[in-house]
Amino acid sequence: AELWQNVPLAPPDSIFQLTAAYKADTFKNKVNLGVGAYRDNDNKPWVLPVVKKATSILLNDEALDHEYLPILGLKDFTSAAAKLIIGSDSPAIKEDRVVSAQTISGTGANHLGALFLSKFYKWNGPAKVYLSNPTWANHHAIFKNVGIEPVDYAYYDPKTIGLDFNGFIEALKNAPDRSVFLLHACAHNPTGIDPTQEQWKAIAEVIGAKKHYSFFDCAYQGFASGDLDKDAWAVRYFVEQGLPLLVCQSFAKNAGLYGERVGALHIVSSDRETANRVGSQVSVLQRSEISNPPSHGARLVSLILNDAGLFEEWKRDIQTMAGRIIDMRKELHRLLTEELRTPGNWDHIVNQIGMFSFTGIQPEQSKALVEKSHIYLTGNGRISMAGLNSHNIRYFAGELDGVVR
Ligand code: PLP
Repeated sequence: AELWQNVPLAPPDSIFQLTAAYKADTFKNKVNLGVGAYRDNDNKPWVLPVVKKATSILLNDEALDHEYLPILGLKDFTSAAAKLIIGSDSPAIKEDRVVSAQTISGTGANHLGALFLSKFYKWNGPAKVYLSNPTWANHHAIFKNVGIEPVDYAYYDPKTIGLDFNGFIEALKNAPDRSVFLLHACAHNPTGIDPTQEQWKAIAEVIGAKKHYSFFDCAYQGFASGDLDKDAWAVRYFVEQGLPLLVCQSFAKNAGLYGERVGALHIVSSDRETANRVGSQVSVLQRSEISNPPSHGARLVSLILNDAGLFEEWKRDIQTMAGRIIDMRKELHRLLTEELRTPGNWDHIVNQIGMFSFTGIQPEQSKALVEKSHIYLTGNGRISMAGLNSHNIRYFAGELDGVVR
């Protein structure tokens, strides 16, 4: 008998399936709102000017070789990356109690963080992670792969197309002490709905009282507001409060380095000695997983983070991306509310933040947009604002108006 005859066929990844359907579509005005990657106003991938500059610096560096990086990655990259998210004047950085590992982008950081918890976390009962409902679908798979069971916590309120703040707080209170909560640091995927700073403070207070562990996933720093510091606010606040946590960091979106797989995992410990022991175990895990991380993307980001001029230029590039997305939100809101007078309230379009927006439309309305209007979006009504531009936004607004009217 065939060796693999019992292997069941897995379903295709829904986002990649959506992209394939978009590519195969020959309709002239087709629109792709599924993609989780930035596009410029002509729907083209955008290589950040600062990345082009850093690339040419690397190309002209005669001293560069292709040796292995250390197991935990390029130190100049991980140190600067830790400061970028945690804040260079943070006590955790000053007291040298942050362990940083270079990872295969944000996905790899989530995996390594989950793997580390699966081995070493002092579980209070069976290993479980609390995930927002909804969340990035890969979170479920990543934790299941390392034997941690995902459980949902309330997050999205379909009635307000906003945050179910009370439900979230109740979930924090009702979970057993020392539970692990995955928190989106900013620009929540898929809803685009973030807690306000006041809400974060209340969340932190309950997390502290319950001794929960915060597993921060930060895939969009700078992308949400256009300001790197503002988007790191929640993480920095939690660190200041002395709450136990780790942060998964990705440079895919904010540096447009999707395919280079540049990311980091930062585990904050209570003291330096503990951090050393944590770091030693993270090294052991990393060694058996990938041996050592890839160098090119980390070198690019290291150049950008460690050079004051390039860093300023990067901030401007981030503002270009975040600014265009914010403009698209405003324009879509204007078209729906002022021009088309589409039924319903559309304020969530401008209140939400980051690459994604939850439109609040029903699955059959999403389906109609895909099948009748050649507008590709996921069944949950999530749209990528990056897929909208001055050429297609009117068409999209009109078709959206058509399905909800
Ligand atoms: N976490 C969240 C919430 C995301 O949305 C993404 C990307 O879509 C990632 C992590 C990881 O992305 P990457 O592995 O490309 O850095």
